[in-house]
Amino acid sequence: MTEKNVRVRFAPSPTGALHIGGAHTALFNWLWARRRGGAFILRVEDTDAERSTAEYEDTIMDGLKWLGLDWDEGPDVGGAFGPYRQSERMDLYRKYAEQLLDEGKAYREDGAVIFRTPVGVSLVIEDEIYGDIKIQSEKASVNQDGSVKDIVIIKRDGMPTYNYAVVVDDHAMDISWVIRGEDHISNTPKQMLLYRALGWEMPRFAHLPMILGKDKKKLSKRHGATSVFEYNDMGYLPDSVFNFLALLGWSPGGGIEIFDRDEAVRSFELSKVIKKPAVFDMDKLNYVNQEHLKTMDPVLKKRIVEPFWRELGLKPERHADQYLMDALTLMGARGRTTKELAEFSDYFVDFSPVKERYDASDITPEQRGTLKKFFAAFMSMPEWESGSMEAFARNWCEANGASLKEVALPLRWALTGRKVSPGVFEVAQLLGRDECGTRLKHFDFVD
Ligand code: GLU
Repeated sequence: MTEKNVRVRFAPSPTGALHIGGAHTALFNWLWARRRGGAFILRVEDTDAERSTAEYEDTIMDGLKWLGLDWDEGPDVGGAFGPYRQSERMDLYRKYAEQLLDEGKAYREDGAVIFRTPVGVSLVIEDEIYGDIKIQSEKASVNQDGSVKDIVIIKRDGMPTYNYAVVVDDHAMDISWVIRGEDHISNTPKQMLLYRALGWEMPRFAHLPMILGKDKKKLSKRHGATSVFEYNDMGYLPDSVFNFLALLGWSPGGGIEIFDRDEAVRSFELSKVIKKPAVFDMDKLNYVNQEHLKTMDPVLKKRIVEPFWRELGLKPERHADQYLMDALTLMGARGRTTKELAEFSDYFVDFSPVKERYDASDITPEQRGTLKKFFAAFMSMPEWESGSMEAFARNWCEANGASLKEVALPLRWALTGRKVSPGVFEVAQLLGRDECGTRLKHFDFVD
C-alpha cells in the first residue's frame, strides 16, 4: 500500500461544551484513525479569543474521554506537530501570509491580509462520502450580488480566519483526511484554493451526514439535550452513546446494531458512511442503552447506578456492594436508562419510597384476615429461598381455598410499592427475612 499513514484531526472551537454534532465528528475521526492504525489529533481552534475559554477546552476533552475517545496528539499530551492550540501558532499563519503577499496572491487592506480569489479554476471536491462536487473558483467565494469576493485570511486584529488557519494547520500537521460535518462543504472550495496557492498537496475530504431531529429539522437545542454530559445525567451509558452516534450515518452491516468500540473499529469503513441525513431518534438511543445495560458488568453497573440512587435521596452506602449488585442483576433488563433503573429498584435500597407509594388502603378487613394467616406461616418458613417460598405459597393457597394472586400481589406491593417488579419471591429472598418482616408489619400484614 502506498497510501499515506492516516492522520486525522478533531478541531473544536472551545466556545461551548462538546455537543452531539461535535461528538459525532470526533467519533468518526477516531474510528478511522483506529481502523487504519493511524493518529487521532485534537486541535483546539481558539482564534475567537473572546468566546474561547480554557474551561470549555477542558469540558470538550472531558466529553471525549467520557465517550471513550482517546487522542494521540493534542494540547494536553503534546506531539511532534505541536503546538495544538491555534492561538499558539500565530507565527506560522503570519509566515504563509507573507509568502502569499510576496507572490502577489494576497494584498493588504486596512491592516487585514486578503487572498485574491482566482477566476477560471475548475475545482472538484472528491468527497469520500458525498462523491465528486464540481465548482468554479469564482463561485467559491462570492458577494451577495454573486460577484467574486476575495478571501480574508488575516483579520485586522492579526487573527487568522478559520478557512486560512485550517489549511495551514492541516498541512503543517500532515493531516491525510479531513473528516467533518457536511456544513463545511461550502468552505472546502475556499480551502482548496488556498492549498493550490500555497503549492500544497490537499488532504482527502470526507463530509459526514447532517444530523436531524425526528421532525426532520436540523438538530438543535429544541430537540433536547445537546451536550454529551446531559446524556450522562439522563442515565445513558458512554458505551451506548458511542454506539448510537456511530449508527448516525454508518452501520457494520448484517443487521448488527449493538456493538462495542472494538467491534466498531474492526468493521468501520469511511466509504460505507452514507450521505443521507441521519435522524437522532431517542427511541433508538433508549433501545441501544437498554441493550448495553443488559450485558453490563455488575460491578460497573452498580458504580454507575449509585449516584442516581443518591439523587433520589437514597443511601446505597448502607448496603453491602454484593447486595446492590445482586439487586441490579435481579432487575435484569428493566429500565432503559440507569436513571430509570435506579428508580425502578429504589425499594432494594430503602423502604421509604415504598411507603410513599403504597398505604394498603385497598385491602379489605376480610382480605387482611387471610393475609395475616398466610404471612404468619410464611415468615416462619425454615428456609428463606424463593423456590421454597413459591412452593409454600402455592400449597398454602390450595389448602386454604385462596388463589396465589391473593397473597402474591399484596406481598409485591408491601415489599416494592410497585405493580411490576422481578419475581416477588426472588425480591423477598434478596431483601431478607428481617426486612420483609419489617415491611409486612408496617402494612399490618403480620402481627
Ligand atoms: N473549528 C471548526 C469547527 O468547529 C473545525 C472545522 C473543520 O473540521 O475544518 O467547526
